[in-house]
Amino acid sequence: MASPKTELNPDSSISLPPGIAVSGAPASPFARRAHPEPAHPYRTPFARDAARILHTRAFRRLAGKTQVFTRLPGDPPGDHFRSRLTHTLEVTQISRTLARALSLNAELAEALALVHDIGHPPFGHAGEKALDTALQAHGLSFDHNLHALRIVTWFEERYPAFRGLNLTLAVREGIVKHSRDYSAAAHPELAEYFLDRFPPLEAQLIDLADEIAYLTADLDDGLDSGILSLDEVREAVPLFREFHDATKCSYPSAAPRLAAYEALRRLLDALVTDLMDAVRARVAALGATTLDDIRRAPTRLAALSPEMEALRASAKKFLYASLYNSPGMEDLHAHAEQVIQQLFAFLMADPGLLPTDHQAQIPTEGLARTVADYIAGMTDAYIEQLWSRCGGR
Ligand code: MG
Repeated sequence: MASPKTELNPDSSISLPPGIAVSGAPASPFARRAHPEPAHPYRTPFARDAARILHTRAFRRLAGKTQVFTRLPGDPPGDHFRSRLTHTLEVTQISRTLARALSLNAELAEALALVHDIGHPPFGHAGEKALDTALQAHGLSFDHNLHALRIVTWFEERYPAFRGLNLTLAVREGIVKHSRDYSAAAHPELAEYFLDRFPPLEAQLIDLADEIAYLTADLDDGLDSGILSLDEVREAVPLFREFHDATKCSYPSAAPRLAAYEALRRLLDALVTDLMDAVRARVAALGATTLDDIRRAPTRLAALSPEMEALRASAKKFLYASLYNSPGMEDLHAHAEQVIQQLFAFLMADPGLLPTDHQAQIPTEGLARTVADYIAGMTDAYIEQLWSRCGGR
């Protein structure tokens, strides 16, 4: 049997320098919590954070939130399409693989992947856009990273000693820096999150694991639903075509569905492998050996190679045109927009409809933000019910 060391890192030449990983030692500044807690006898701070996230109500609600689509227009919800929850679990699997293979902190990567979509409102991207539009009328905006931070620092109430989950600094910083960099001037409230520096690689990699997970999953769900045809995917996504041809050579009699799965599996593997190679090459080119080198680098270092990035970007463009914004999906988006806008208006007009714990937020947060916070937490099914109970149609 392989030794544990060999299992974790099959080839030490693929590791990054050990000083680049975030230290999970309880005394590490990244493990700092707003409310100091004694170290656990056998769990690291980031493993505890991953568990805290997993046990929240907000995490469980991801099961009832749309990722891209959960049903075809006119159909009841399908059981096999990705939800935000299954997408999150796929991102977590990819992130753990990346972090382990690069000798980064896999427990931190896992915690960040589990939390990365926790701030998303119902109805996927259409829901987020509609909520943002509703808030714009009040001089505010909706940002799912900042909402995620509020969930873990305030809305989740599970501990008698503090509000929120009391997560470590590294996890809170990773939440704030998921896929974007905020300016310190525009966001003085985020000052403790080192806005002048890039996040550690563990956090940077989540953005790419997210892209890789949904690119391959959306091709899969698109084919499965019949919205995308095999021919158009082969035509529009050259990497898929290459792996699909190779699969047909290896398994000439494979059922079409299995050949497509195999091509997608190889595509996912190629993206992850390219990302690891590209990160290692960038770290080596920079001569980075410490976490601080990564944080002060001229750019984020976690990115695909330029060739693979071009292929990914063109595949994503195809998904926008043929899946995300396809005619049937537009009807679902219009419905999502209508439900969110109308419910927002109902709640603004009658704040008595808000649960009492949300009403208590009005004096500090203002009514519009409070209404948006309530809506953002809802599942697709819950918002539909409340909307029709309020007279929405
Ligand atoms: Mg995501």
